[in-house]
Amino acid sequence: MKKYNCDILVVGAGGAGLRAAIAAKEADRDLNVILVTKGKLGKSGVTATACSDRMAFHTTLPFTKPGGKDNWKFHAKDIYEIGGKVSDYNLAEILAKSSKEAFEYLDKLGVPFVKKNGKPEQFVTDGSEYPRACYTGPYTANEIERALIKKIHPHPTGGFTPIKGEEIKIIEDSMIIYVLTSQGRIIGAFGLDTSERFPQKLRVFNNKTIILATGGAGEVFKINVFPEGMSGDGYALAYEAGAELVNMEFIQFGLSSIKTKLALSGSMMRALPKITNDKGEEFLRNCNILFAKGASWPISYEKPSKIIDLAVFEERAKGRKVYLDYRENPQRLNIEKLKKEIKDWYREKGVDFKREKFKRSPLSRLSQINPSIIIWFKKRGINLEREKIEIAPAAQHFQGGVRIGVKAKTNIKGLCAAGECAGGQHGANRPGGNSLLDCQVFGRIAGDTAGGEAKSIKNPKEISRSQIEETKKKLQKLLNRRRGLKASLARNRIRSIMSSLVGIVRTREGLNKTKRQLEEMKKKGICMDENGLVYLLETINILKVAKIIATAASLRDESRGPHLLFDNSGESEPRNDKKWQRYIVIKKGNGKDE
Ligand SMILES: Cc1cc2nc3c(=O)[nH]c(=O)nc-3n(C[C@H](O)[C@H](O)[C@H](O)COP(=O)(O)OP(=O)(O)OC[C@H]3O[C@@H](n4cnc5c(N)ncnc54)[C@H](O)[C@@H]3O)c2cc1C
Repeated sequence: MKKYNCDILVVGAGGAGLRAAIAAKEADRDLNVILVTKGKLGKSGVTATACSDRMAFHTTLPFTKPGGKDNWKFHAKDIYEIGGKVSDYNLAEILAKSSKEAFEYLDKLGVPFVKKNGKPEQFVTDGSEYPRACYTGPYTANEIERALIKKIHPHPTGGFTPIKGEEIKIIEDSMIIYVLTSQGRIIGAFGLDTSERFPQKLRVFNNKTIILATGGAGEVFKINVFPEGMSGDGYALAYEAGAELVNMEFIQFGLSSIKTKLALSGSMMRALPKITNDKGEEFLRNCNILFAKGASWPISYEKPSKIIDLAVFEERAKGRKVYLDYRENPQRLNIEKLKKEIKDWYREKGVDFKREKFKRSPLSRLSQINPSIIIWFKKRGINLEREKIEIAPAAQHFQGGVRIGVKAKTNIKGLCAAGECAGGQHGANRPGGNSLLDCQVFGRIAGDTAGGEAKSIKNPKEISRSQIEETKKKLQKLLNRRRGLKASLARNRIRSIMSSLVGIVRTREGLNKTKRQLEEMKKKGICMDENGLVYLLETINILKVAKIIATAASLRDESRGPHLLFDNSGESEPRNDKKWQRYIVIKKGNGKDE
């Protein structure tokens, strides 16, 4: 067992955790900051590993459209209104107002944003009114992660002054498993060494404040584009500590490649491929809608292009596989009949429909609009000249999370949250690019807040010997437990139920069935298998988070954003109730609905 004392414990080393640790240290170099990550630094979590067609970082700069001194207000309005007016408008304002500073900070750190004449290029993403998305390419998030890591490690070739490496203590291969409070205030946390499967050593952290930056919970769904290990630990830790969670029913789902986990947005849809099932049948024929999907990747009740995700879901529910095929045009594609704005868009991209190849082949169109993606697939074993891409709606982002206020504080003293782990800043829909921004803005705020609070605590309480003994016993009990479902079986079961009943099609009956099945699983208990203790603890968290999502979804008696509620399965129109404009808060012990 190892013991650590610090002022601030940052849990998670993605964009939010790294930014938080740096902010705390920049505010006061005397603060003792420890950053813990479940995997290796720069190799775990979404920021370090995810990629897409073109990853976006939203910002409003002085020259960003529509221009003017109060430019940011349009950005805040998009976050709040396009979000479905079910978030905290004050947080949307902070995001928008602070986006310039967040961008400039990353720019100075050397994130290679694409620029023209010295100005970053900005494009329009899903659910935004104006072009605000800056990018480096498909790996914007990874470049942000690398720049932040470089900042905390001395780097002789870097063009900035790094904080000395030893100033922020980084503990890799360590999973925080319990957060401890005393009289409503954080006093510490327990962690497990994850580098070895057996035995896993206990780590004890005495700290004044904790920042949860553990990202989302992709592992709750069978089909997701998250890296492994994203089991929603932060949500479960906060819930157990008595914190409030908000908007947990709003999860971003969109069509993705099953094999490569790539979100099929932008050019992948705009090339107008054929969508078929495994019998070769086409079941979607409206090409204008298919093109629109390129700019509205996540499913949303408010977007007509939702019919594509729903049709794919329905085919898969019948046991059929679904593919995107770039070798042939959709049967009903009539280039002459495409809308004028679509033809204009193609012309701008150099696709001349007078040339036969552009008329006949989606692959030719794709190779003109985005040639690198064809190579990207080839490197991962999919040759689009010969093969189709198998697709399904996959979970990509959690809009909700641990409820925070303007200072990134939760309702537990000494507990802050930031990034995807936090909630309230986004609504039902999240305009693309605002999540990477959110990690930087609320990461910085959480670092400042936790630092200020830690300095005000003069005589911190420590974790007692009896609490350590109790935790050891609790873990031993888990190790010895033989009754219940084996962890891997339980995990598969939860993920299957969640993807089929709490994914893009939700019915009252399905949600109730899910809650019942998850409750039964909880009663039966989950026990360790050959995957070890960490896997078991993650699976217990997955079950908790799944229950929270199903509960929040069953409370929302309407459709909004990605929450599509149908009266019965097989019905074509989701239920709507425009007056149902509420914010669902879940807390241990009661389901509160505001
Ligand atoms: C494929 C994909 C494409 C995306 N594209 C975009 C985009 O273009 N624009 C945009 O704005 N957003 C995008 N997003 C969302 C965005 O990338 C993420 O929301 C964001 O990177 C999350 O950052 P984070 O710091 O909150 O969490 P992460 O980067 O996921 O980091 C979480 C960290 O917590 C650690 N951790 C977890 N549990 C524990 C524990 N119990 N103990 C210790 N450590 C723990 C992990 O190891 C990791 O270090 C995309 C997401 C995906 C998956």
